[in-house]
Amino acid sequence: MTIHSIRVRLTLWYAGLLAGSLVLFGLLVYIGLKQYLVGNAATNLAEQSRSITQLLAELPMKRPGFLAQEIEEAYAPEANGNFIRVTRSQGTVVYISGDAKGDSFKASEVPLKQGLSNDDTVRVVHPFGGGAWLIESLSFTDPGGNRFLVESGIPYARIENVLNGLLRMLAVYLPLIVSVGGFGGYCLMRRSLQPVDEITTRAEGITSTNLSQRLPVIKSGDELERLSASLNRMIARLDDTFQHIHRFSADASHELRTPLTILQLELEEIVQNPVLSPQIVDQIGSALEETQRLSRIVENLLTISKLDAGEVKMEKATLNLAELATSTAEQMKLLAEEKSLTMTCKCDPSVYISGDETRLKQVIVNLIANAISYTPEGGEIGVLVRSVQNTALLKVFDNGVGIPVSAIPHIFERFYRADKARSRDSGGAGLGLAIVKAICSAHGAEVMVVSQEGKGSTFIVEMPLAAVSRPAQTSERESTGYVSQERR
Ligand code: ADP
Repeated sequence: MTIHSIRVRLTLWYAGLLAGSLVLFGLLVYIGLKQYLVGNAATNLAEQSRSITQLLAELPMKRPGFLAQEIEEAYAPEANGNFIRVTRSQGTVVYISGDAKGDSFKASEVPLKQGLSNDDTVRVVHPFGGGAWLIESLSFTDPGGNRFLVESGIPYARIENVLNGLLRMLAVYLPLIVSVGGFGGYCLMRRSLQPVDEITTRAEGITSTNLSQRLPVIKSGDELERLSASLNRMIARLDDTFQHIHRFSADASHELRTPLTILQLELEEIVQNPVLSPQIVDQIGSALEETQRLSRIVENLLTISKLDAGEVKMEKATLNLAELATSTAEQMKLLAEEKSLTMTCKCDPSVYISGDETRLKQVIVNLIANAISYTPEGGEIGVLVRSVQNTALLKVFDNGVGIPVSAIPHIFERFYRADKARSRDSGGAGLGLAIVKAICSAHGAEVMVVSQEGKGSTFIVEMPLAAVSRPAQTSERESTGYVSQERR
């Protein structure tokens, strides 16, 4: 998981947007709540001031001390921690509540409001030594024409406490909600991108040899469905093109076969003519050799093209690989002896596999033929067959020229020859191992090579055992040298 992955980026965007929306929401709630609390407090204070104005209207008819007594009985400002002040227009204070208990607030320090307007006003004052106060002022004129200013206040801290509580709640829950939302978003993203993972895994397994396979189509009705469907259409087009190319190679090889055979037969016939000078006979003989070489190449090309196009019908049957290897080695012993090579064959008695006998024989022939070609006179070559766990193992080894490290990754490619001169002398065109690989692929087998230049090479073919084989619990695998692997 990297920071650039689409999953992480989308999650971060999602978490960022969620956090932004929540902060905006919190801000709006804060402002709204503040306005509501201030408005509500102002309404209550205005209500209280209006009640006091009714007392003021009765004041001329009452005894001194009436106002203070009535206000304290009705509102108990000291006990409730509130502020009430009644002032005459000249600035004489008619009534003022006492200092609130346990607070450094001094009611007498609240500055007088300038001017007695007729408006209802709310203001926040900061008297010396205490917290802020919210004070509502109401002007009143009694029937006798006397003007008064009634001020009622509460500590602003009461409103701030509620707002701070909201801030604390937001500070705790906002990161929590963003984390939970972000995690949930990541899981959802993972889930919804799961089909893309499946498509990727399946697409990676599709090569030129299995273009008939298709990707899973996600029935989501959106871009993903369209993507998988168009990838499938693309694979189908590639499949068609590959089939076309394979068919073309097969057809071309097939068409070349007949004229080459006729050419070969005619040259053989001409060479028999006794009137020809020895020089011409030599030249025709050399042309005949080249024609035979060309025929072999065309034959090999035809085999590969047919294997690629899937036109070769594999006659699969259970067969004993050990027997097949022993008999093939026996048949090729003569070729080895011509080059004074010693050939050994060590095969377990019964190693059963399921495969096409003719094709598998071709694998063994090609490997032994190479071993003979690339081992100098007096060398040793060997064939070994055994079963290791559930795998049949065929090894063809020699102590010949070996393969350069740089050539090993390419030797299974078509027309690749590590040493062009030597390979041509041996009559090879670089198609033998390509055929081995194609046949192994068709059998679900794996072919590998272990080689050291100047010391020799070992070709290993691994294929699944057929059910009838009893696996011997031995473990064997070359562990030195450079290993090239061709898997199906
Ligand atoms: P070729 O017909 O040229 O032998 P192959 O496909 O059979 O073509 O082999 C490809 C190349 O791999 C050869 O040209 C040769 O260089 C190398 N090679 C194959 N088998 C051996 C071996 N047993 N020892 C050394 N080199 C080998």
